[in-house]
Amino acid sequence: MDKEQRDKVFAASYQKTEEGKEQLYNYEKNKVESVDDIANYNSLTKLPILRMFNYKSSEIVKANPDLKYAVIVMDITRFKAVNEFLGRSEGDRLLLFIADCLNKYVEERSFTVAGHMRADTFCLFTAYIDQSELSDICVNIKRRIKNMFNSFRVIISFGICASRDRSPAIPYLKDCATMALSEVKGKYYADYCFFRDEMRTNMLKEKLIESDMMVGLEHGEVIPYIQPKVDMTTGKIIGGEALVRWNKPGEGIKSPAEFIPIIEKTGLIINVDRFMWARIFAYQKRVLDEGRTPLPISVNVSRMHSFEDKLAQRILGMHERYEVPTEYVVLEITESAFALDENNMDDQMKKLRQSGFTISMDDFGSGYSSLNMLRSRELDEVKIDKEFLSDIENPKSRIVIRNLINMLRELNVEMIVEGIETEAQKKFFVDNGCTRAQGFLFYKPMPLDEFDELLKKDS
Ligand code: C2E
Ligand code: MG
Ligand code: MG
Repeated sequence: MDKEQRDKVFAASYQKTEEGKEQLYNYEKNKVESVDDIANYNSLTKLPILRMFNYKSSEIVKANPDLKYAVIVMDITRFKAVNEFLGRSEGDRLLLFIADCLNKYVEERSFTVAGHMRADTFCLFTAYIDQSELSDICVNIKRRIKNMFNSFRVIISFGICASRDRSPAIPYLKDCATMALSEVKGKYYADYCFFRDEMRTNMLKEKLIESDMMVGLEHGEVIPYIQPKVDMTTGKIIGGEALVRWNKPGEGIKSPAEFIPIIEKTGLIINVDRFMWARIFAYQKRVLDEGRTPLPISVNVSRMHSFEDKLAQRILGMHERYEVPTEYVVLEITESAFALDENNMDDQMKKLRQSGFTISMDDFGSGYSSLNMLRSRELDEVKIDKEFLSDIENPKSRIVIRNLINMLRELNVEMIVEGIETEAQKKFFVDNGCTRAQGFLFYKPMPLDEFDELLKKDS
């Protein structure tokens, strides 16, 4: 499929013909009628679930095609944490309170439907005259929740799609509201966001990147680069890190910053990671077959894998298939993944560690690191992030780094510093006893074959 064809496919999926709308309406009607009445409502809040929400809203639109309509989608950030820290009953109380707020609007405003989509996601469909009515709804709900639950901070975000079209399709409005929601979700400084057309354009662009990359993965465009890691006291290479590159036809080598945030959103990162791991296992196997001793190479494990139950099984499968001892492949997991879904990620890491893999916490200090994670998580190594090096001249920074190094040493956790670019940085870390590093001062990431040549020379 070329670009033009693909654009058409995406455009078609959003086309809203009258015929299409009628079909959708009938489809929703069938769905609602084919299940028990009770199954169309959330068992806790008694609000309509998605199919019923769509159906009820569509009926209103059908009967009053000349009004203007909007859908507001709202989402509680880290609802799971509310349940975990305050108990399920408080979590339920919060959900019931939100349902109550929404029901008030259903009573007060004509042509309004409330819905409960998933545990922490609610929807409101309503006719409106002025857009300010919609933002007022969001601000009011937020204020009521704040007053009610002021003992703990509930972050609730809203995405709004205010349609200007005549009789819009409800799922389309809801999709657009969800797109708007993703712009503000979890951000402390913004409460709501209105959908704008460019959000859809961006989404389509992202979908294009994803589909191109999916093809690229099969056509050998995705390639591993390796950045050597060194012992700063001897200059010797002690290992490497595999970093993905995309050699996109006509555009040259693309860096992760240009595509990883996108493929993390769409989930393709899972396939890219697996591909990279397989390439590294295969490379290490080749080195072993040639009678050489491999140096450990680390691979990145995206935080998206924290939702994957079979992560450990999959990596262990590769280790067996390629017959590469676990000591030659290190697993780097970014610090935020440890915080994200601690239970699953930690369980998976435990299994992998027990089988002999080294677990390295990547980007330590770049995000919301918690010192507690050093104590409680399954890990062998910490990668000190380049963020720490940015103002190494600052005496306070020096104190922080020096004590971090001491703490890691006492905790018996291996360490490596990332992003060494200057002799001064190198000296400071070596003087303080952190001797392993990865940085442009020594080597930049290079194609796998080049790395292999380098190793042959270095040994
Ligand atoms: P990371 O895992 O922390 O990798 C280190 C990044 O720091 C690499 O950027 C590397 O080129 C860069 N770096 C190393 N030394 C220096 C230095 O001295 N100065 C500067 N300015 N940068 C330095 P890269 O290759 O662009 O990768 C960026 C990020 O993308 C990686 O950060 C990692 O989070 C992600 N990534 C790369 N490859 C993969 C992959 O295969 N899978 C996953 N899930 N993520 C990957
Ligand atoms: Mg890394
Ligand atoms: Mg890093």
